[in-house]
Amino acid sequence: MTETPNIAHWFGADLAPGESANTELQVTESYSGRNISIPIRVCRGLTDGPTVFVTAALHGDELNGTGAIRMLIDNDDWKLQSGTVLMIPVLNPLGFEQHSRYLPDRRDLNRCFPGTVSGSMASRLAKVIFDSVITQCDFGIDLHTAAVRRTNFPNVRANLEHPDCLRLATAFGCGILLHGNGPKGSLRLEATKAGCPTIVVEGGEVWKVESSVAECMTRGILNVFKELGMMDGEQDLPDSQVTLRETKWLRAERGGFMSLHVAPGDSVEKGQAIATNSSLLGEEKGRLVTPFSGIVIGMTTLPAVQPGEPVVQIGRLADPKSARRHAKQVAGDDVQRTAHEHLATNIHVTEPSEEEPNKQEPPAK
Ligand SMILES: [Zn+2]
Repeated sequence: MTETPNIAHWFGADLAPGESANTELQVTESYSGRNISIPIRVCRGLTDGPTVFVTAALHGDELNGTGAIRMLIDNDDWKLQSGTVLMIPVLNPLGFEQHSRYLPDRRDLNRCFPGTVSGSMASRLAKVIFDSVITQCDFGIDLHTAAVRRTNFPNVRANLEHPDCLRLATAFGCGILLHGNGPKGSLRLEATKAGCPTIVVEGGEVWKVESSVAECMTRGILNVFKELGMMDGEQDLPDSQVTLRETKWLRAERGGFMSLHVAPGDSVEKGQAIATNSSLLGEEKGRLVTPFSGIVIGMTTLPAVQPGEPVVQIGRLADPKSARRHAKQVAGDDVQRTAHEHLATNIHVTEPSEEEPNKQEPPAK
């Protein structure tokens, strides 16, 4: 048999330049002995260029990224000029089948990379994914949401001291960039270490495709393709972006029902009321205030809390002026402004009452 020139082979599919194909990668076997595969959409540009993976549902209940990838697969309006894209709407098929973050052995797949051939079920699954997909790529985008009972304003997380991660994170076009290497065993940390700079995007809640969050994600993915020279056209970027290096969860000091005074994506100024805790009949017990100025990155969607439970995650900004600047940049960017309005309507946000209940200001550090 003669080799056809310039045919790329991906997971059993053969692609000429400019072609796309649906294929799959077998990753493990089920309890009933059936093969379990990950569906993959491979898109090849007309000319050579970088190979990029876009993955979602590594935590099997986090579906905003799945929705975003499916929107891109459905949409013929964008065209890859060069390079190759591997689009994986569900990276963790076992968690996905259970609507669960975790694998059936209760492990978190996103703590098991790069995996081992002879380890636990999670570790073997991680190994197959890592060797067959991740290390075949030059760059990666891994899409997540907040954990169960929480929501996030869309933000990018990456090792911003790594020049390529910084480049991808900036190009994605969220207003918020959060610096961090990622936990040990996480896909982004291990992929970046292995030579495939990878960013994480967090937005919205589990078990949903939220249109405004998916919109942030699709815009960001195409922005990254354009950044890498894989697509023509101008990037759609906000006027400014802010880098956060410190975040803090403000936790409930008292048990009871929380009235929330902020929404995801809000800018807050030091000393501002965040939430008021009261009995079920409305007797106020205490109020959480923010110990520094910043941005509401994440928050609970479950207003009933016990002492110590996380209520709102604030990304720290230097001063109130930076907070006001952030509010302005969100308002000036259609995609983020829509997400801000949309996520806020999902949460009952009230003004704090006039009288001051006990302030519950946690220590600044
Ligand atoms: Zn996740």
